[in-house]
Amino acid sequence: MKQCKHCRTDIDKKAKVCPQCGRSQSNKLVSLLIKIAIIFGIIIALIVACSKGVSDAIDEADKQKESLKVEENTVTASKDEYGFSYNIEGYIKNESDKSFSYVQVTYTAYDKDGNTLGTCIDNNSGLEANGRWKFKAMCLSEVDSIASYKLSEVTGW
Ligand SMILES: [Zn+2]
Repeated sequence: MKQCKHCRTDIDKKAKVCPQCGRSQSNKLVSLLIKIAIIFGIIIALIVACSKGVSDAIDEADKQKESLKVEENTVTASKDEYGFSYNIEGYIKNESDKSFSYVQVTYTAYDKDGNTLGTCIDNNSGLEANGRWKFKAMCLSEVDSIASYKLSEVTGW
């Protein structure tokens, strides 16, 4: 026999609930700690699942970006007839079966000594799955000094 923690009635040693007052005989602190541990575990599991979802989405976006390929043998560069802009033209292929809602290409322009002069850029509002984009990246500053150029970035989403 033991005494009920609440009403002091003598009750069975194994009783979890007092038959007299109907109240629980378990240790409140222990059960509270177990509840906290369970809730904490659920929160951690949700955070892990959520951050994995986010990183999967980022991986997916990175993978899609990599499917934009500059067809290097199509790329040419020239000054326009008025010397107003330096244009780098070529084709970019979307090698994925997903379409883009925005695509952008950037080249960096250099002078004959290798100093950076500026950025040549073109963009388009979309590129269909397996589509080909004829881009024309324009440099508008220091046009007469441009001696070389290098692909900086192809991006899209
Ligand atoms: Zn009781």
